[in-house]
Amino acid sequence: MALADEARRVAAEFEYSAEDVNKGVREFLREMDEGLVKDGTSMSQIPTYVTAVPNGTEKGLYMAVDLGGTNFRVCSVQLHGNTTFSIKTSKVPIPRELMTAETAKELFAFLAKQIESFLKQHHEDHYFGHLERVETGGGTVREEDIFDLGFTFSFPVHQIGINRGTLIRWTKGFNIADAIGKDVCKLLQDEIDELKLPVRVAALVNDTVGTLMARSYTSPGKTGTLLGAIFGTGTNGAYVEKLDRITKLKKAAEKGEIGEYDQSTGEMIVNTEWGSFDNPLSILPNTPYDESLDKESVNPGIQMFEKRVSGMFLGEIVRRALLALLEKDGGKVPLFRDENSNMNDMHTTTNIHDNSNLFKQWGLDTSFLSTAAGDASQGLKITRQALNRELGISAASIEDAEAVKLISAAVGKRAARLAAVAIAAIVIRSGRLEIATVGDGTSEEDVIDVGVDGSLVEFYPGFEDLMREALREIDGIKEQEKRVRIGIAKDGSGVGASLIALVAAKQIRRMSV
Ligand code: BGC
Ligand code: MG
Repeated sequence: MALADEARRVAAEFEYSAEDVNKGVREFLREMDEGLVKDGTSMSQIPTYVTAVPNGTEKGLYMAVDLGGTNFRVCSVQLHGNTTFSIKTSKVPIPRELMTAETAKELFAFLAKQIESFLKQHHEDHYFGHLERVETGGGTVREEDIFDLGFTFSFPVHQIGINRGTLIRWTKGFNIADAIGKDVCKLLQDEIDELKLPVRVAALVNDTVGTLMARSYTSPGKTGTLLGAIFGTGTNGAYVEKLDRITKLKKAAEKGEIGEYDQSTGEMIVNTEWGSFDNPLSILPNTPYDESLDKESVNPGIQMFEKRVSGMFLGEIVRRALLALLEKDGGKVPLFRDENSNMNDMHTTTNIHDNSNLFKQWGLDTSFLSTAAGDASQGLKITRQALNRELGISAASIEDAEAVKLISAAVGKRAARLAAVAIAAIVIRSGRLEIATVGDGTSEEDVIDVGVDGSLVEFYPGFEDLMREALREIDGIKEQEKRVRIGIAKDGSGVGASLIALVAAKQIRRMSV
């Protein structure tokens, strides 16, 4: 049994044709529309109460914190009002046990503590001055002492105001049942108040919304950025929608379920939560590896799109595919076998130890996929080193490495083509492609700007090119693909969240006078 043939067969299971891509776009458009009308749909289409993107002239000092993956980040951002900013940042890993704590309080008390340390370290005068006034002045807090804070919380939240929202579900390995249904801004504010910090949680921000804002502030185009997207540990996107299309918002306001919101721009940013696109599964590709990954995950049956696209899962898909190859036909495929072994006794001469990460759930990081897929070294030396380092396979052959590279590239390519489905649907729905083009479609007037962030777009080799290839296959886009400008927007959770805190603080002040 030739290894190369078997590897090609597995790689082919991840093919996602032009026809599939188009089918995906049609279903994505349908679910986008459905989510704007009612609650509880596959894609949540969450109104964010942010009704404009910045234009680069915004000014002021704000705070931002970011909870959403492996680290908790605290920062303060000075917006200079000329598309630039300066930022002070601190970052700590979130203790594993807090991700699955008994109570929400345990996690949020930890977050407030980090904010306190940050203030003591970076805004010492401000912090101690405030503390002294609180203690000697009978506890009165001066409005000008308060830091408005943007809280980037990158999980699905049912938002009922710019700084109010209840947690729908956890994703990406977090799991604290106690927090479900609670207002996450209040959870944070309560812990901040307990420490008497001069900080007001002014805005609740999804990381995709922050990305959209950051992109629009730093590279404002003629029409502003349309979409902010994350392809990192998880995946999601937020885009600018017309207010009168978000009919569920109007209904909620009529029923008095939500407060007043700014309608002056006629637009609002919507957080799609596209990680849960096509739940329950109907049109997404589904290999045996996708299926077992889902079944053995902490949230089976949900986030099905995310489980095929984002960094938390791609390494695990590859691991399962390699394992299947290794175990095929009772171990007859010559993968990771000792080359000097007796052909009749391959079982006992495998190069893998029982305790290799290949046999452990989540044992293979997605960075491995990027390494293998992008390996252009002589004799695939880099991949063979990575196999040794990550899986303890010390004598991987070139054929082994070729098989691993082929499968990794197939999984990465499928992810990029799925990502294109989401981007295409939003670009099409925006109607911006229908606006007459000037010249060759790449002039500033014609550009449709998309800001992206996350380890996958940043580090997976050729992710954008693979997405673009798929965009050109999509009806309604095709050769207009070049009008879509995709740019990295770093710091959505810092500068982006600060920009939303700015907008929110203005609203809070306006409503309290
Ligand atoms: C969450 C989104 C978030 C995305 C990227 C997903 O798991 O549901 O809210 O935007 O990850 O961080
Ligand atoms: Mg993040």
